[in-house]
Amino acid sequence: MNLLPKDVDRYILSGDYDEVAKLGVMNCIECGVCSYTCPAKRPLVQSMRLAKKEIRARGNK
Ligand code: SF4
Repeated sequence: MNLLPKDVDRYILSGDYDEVAKLGVMNCIECGVCSYTCPAKRPLVQSMRLAKKEIRARGNK
């Protein structure tokens, strides 16, 4: 999906959802590969899912 989950997650953690949207989080298909392969075992797909929900709630999908 041409996403950079590590970078997206960094902006999610800082609460910058405008930047998260710019990085294309809405294209995430929630396949879970990023979480599966993350050497630090970060819950990346869960972050993507929550960010998509937050962006939809804000009405700027
Ligand atoms: S869940 Fe899949 S599509 Fe979404 S960021 Fe991770 S690897 Fe990419």
